[in-house]
Amino acid sequence: MKVYLDNNATTRIAPEVLDAMLPFLTEKFGNPSSFHSFGSDLMEEIEAAREKVAALLGAHAGEIVFTSGGTESDNMALTCSASINPLKPGLVTSTIEHPAVLETAECIRSRGHPVGLSEVNHDGTLNMDSFISLITEQTGLVSIMMANNETGVIMPVEETARIAHERGALFHTDAVQAAGKIPIDVRSSGIDMLSISAHKLHGPKGAGALFIREGIDLPPFMLGGHQENGLRAGTYNTAGIIGLGVAASLAAEHLLEEKGRTGLLLGRLEAGILEKCPGAIIVSAGARRLPNTATVLFRGVESEAVMTLLDIEGICVSSGSACSTGEETSSYVLAAMGIGADDANTALRFSLSRYTTGREIDCVLEVLPPIINKLRKISPYANR
Ligand code: PLP
Repeated sequence: MKVYLDNNATTRIAPEVLDAMLPFLTEKFGNPSSFHSFGSDLMEEIEAAREKVAALLGAHAGEIVFTSGGTESDNMALTCSASINPLKPGLVTSTIEHPAVLETAECIRSRGHPVGLSEVNHDGTLNMDSFISLITEQTGLVSIMMANNETGVIMPVEETARIAHERGALFHTDAVQAAGKIPIDVRSSGIDMLSISAHKLHGPKGAGALFIREGIDLPPFMLGGHQENGLRAGTYNTAGIIGLGVAASLAAEHLLEEKGRTGLLLGRLEAGILEKCPGAIIVSAGARRLPNTATVLFRGVESEAVMTLLDIEGICVSSGSACSTGEETSSYVLAAMGIGADDANTALRFSLSRYTTGREIDCVLEVLPPIINKLRKISPYANR
């Protein structure tokens, strides 16, 4: 039995999504931008997918731009916003954003524009004093993620959007991990731009969208064609867009039921771990979190060793640390929360999905504790 609890990395394609996509990879292969009907008829299907994505977010279809995924949506929102108003090229974001935001922010800074990174508190929530202090007259965009991919902590999007607007800045949120897991309403939340990615909500990889509120006039991001009102040139990824549309509809349809169901499964997992692995710590336990995400510190036990042994047993989870250029580096998210490298290197992230079952949670609760307890006995770092 394979137990896949790494759904914040990517999710399984829903069967309904695959079925809807297949004709666009076979007989309906035309180019939607073609003059002839074999291609141009597909434009209607693309527009139907746009409606579905808009419905998930409480937006109008005309406010949705299709992209290749969350990374591109984040790049587009930040890069294009920096050149809307030359008097306000500055950006304020936070230290725990995804690299798609952080590295784009660094690029904006390297062009000489002011960039501020707000600190977070020990529980992974936004430090409001730090956030507010960074916004200046030059700030044109504030970008705060809706929920963090490592801890699952839900950020105060409405409040940060309101503060951004009071200071004359636009507000973008990376909702890649939040979409389909918690309700989103761009209007009541005051969101100007929002990024989503299909493969995090049981859609295909390589498809995503950026919501851009009507009235915001962004300069083109990709040049070389008239697609997406000239904002994002390039031949349509028809199958991917259709897949994203169906994935968005399914996510909306199942949202409330799944929020409750995965929340209960996550609670069962966390309670079982705390009971069977003495000393385990649930990161951001007291904060408002996504119903599907738990990062746990197993002090004294290297997460890489645990992941390897779990992998042998068919259980897929991920660690709080990112492997770059073959060198193990601690998670910058946990570091920003004040968690030291020794502890951060013991972090395991469990992320559930619509397809996670109670049996799978029970399997983890059977397999994981003996691994932790055995490794802890032989670890030179344990009991320090
Ligand atoms: N933003 C967040 C919060 C993410 O978790 C991810 C993916 O892990 C991305 C952006 C990037 O999305 P994509 O893989 O679609 O480029």
